[in-house]
Amino acid sequence: MTVVRGRQFFQNPGPTNIPDRILRAMDRPALDFMGAEFRAIAEECYAGLRHVFKTDQAIIAYASNGHGAWEAAIVNVFSPGDRVLVPETGYFSLNWGNLAQELGLEVETLPGDWRAGVDPEAVEARLREDKAHTIKAVMQVHNETATGVTNRIAEIRRAIDAARHPALYMVDVISSLGSIDFRMDEWQVDVVVGGSQKGLMMPPGMAFTGASQKALQAAQAARLPRVYWDWRKLVTGNRQTAFNGTAPVHLFYGLQEAVRMLAEEGLDHVFARHRRLAEATRRAVRVWRGNDGPEIFATDPRTQSDSITTVLLQDGQDAEAVRSVALDRFNVSLGGGLDRLDGHVFRIGHMGDLNEPMILGALAAIEMSLAVAGVPHGKGGVAAAMEYLASERA
Ligand code: PLP
Repeated sequence: MTVVRGRQFFQNPGPTNIPDRILRAMDRPALDFMGAEFRAIAEECYAGLRHVFKTDQAIIAYASNGHGAWEAAIVNVFSPGDRVLVPETGYFSLNWGNLAQELGLEVETLPGDWRAGVDPEAVEARLREDKAHTIKAVMQVHNETATGVTNRIAEIRRAIDAARHPALYMVDVISSLGSIDFRMDEWQVDVVVGGSQKGLMMPPGMAFTGASQKALQAAQAARLPRVYWDWRKLVTGNRQTAFNGTAPVHLFYGLQEAVRMLAEEGLDHVFARHRRLAEATRRAVRVWRGNDGPEIFATDPRTQSDSITTVLLQDGQDAEAVRSVALDRFNVSLGGGLDRLDGHVFRIGHMGDLNEPMILGALAAIEMSLAVAGVPHGKGGVAAAMEYLASERA
């Protein structure tokens, strides 16, 4: 067996690198989750989350992954047969829609270009057609982790308003929260779905839904069955006051440290750091595009994601071979292609606890892996990334 030294460069789009500070914060004995000491920790966590979600409304935390929070969002606001509009952006939008369908909703997919993201005009046009207001909600993904496309939430909000449509606006921020600016209150998002294991730099196992007053009202009338996820049992006013069963105490310890770290750096700086590392990545890929090499999957510069870059190989090239070389030979872990992109793309996660030398190390390993795997590409991608990072002030 080959002995591997040094840290693995973990460029997966979730879970992401967990800072030692967060790991150490969790290295503590358990605590009575009904007691005052735990309550104080939880309160600090909720306040920190409200800061990151940019909201003063309810945030409900669960022991769960993102799929659970997806389900919580649906069962709390809908009744059987309700119609929802799901703008298609890729694997995660389709899967959230599938989950809604299995729970008994009528799901209408708004076809979309996976490489460009949601067209606000198409949303507006569809909602204008719905004169009887049969569409109860627009459910969409902010940052489509499969494609590396970030949708323009503020513009889609304006599209809903322009159509004068009362639909709830529901947004999955699982791979944008804590990495890319998101403003629940300003953009009037009614239900927000988040998870712990990406921009919040935490282990998987905790998930959240943000709920506006309008969403909490909808929860009173909704008729889908719910027990574990039931906001009516968890929320008093607009604050979570109860947990169903044992609270995940250690995840709260970690979250307390995570929200402190985000506040300490300052959200604007967190977003700027992600933008800088993402831009360095994009510059490298643009150079690799030479010689008929791979390209950035997201075609519209306005929607290229600052938390993940999906890299599309040309026909006949195998993205999995590049990923295998990166992992087996250079100890760099990358994300693979999902759904119809399987084998055609690899994904470079650049979210969470990451800095310049980490991304440069990963990019260097990828450039070497392209060469080892025999994938034609332009040389000098890493140099272009270095040049950009050296010229760009933090
Ligand atoms: N939504 C998005 C945008 C995601 O990226 C993911 C996971 O990567 C999910 C939902 C599902 O989250 P989980 O895997 O925690 O269930």
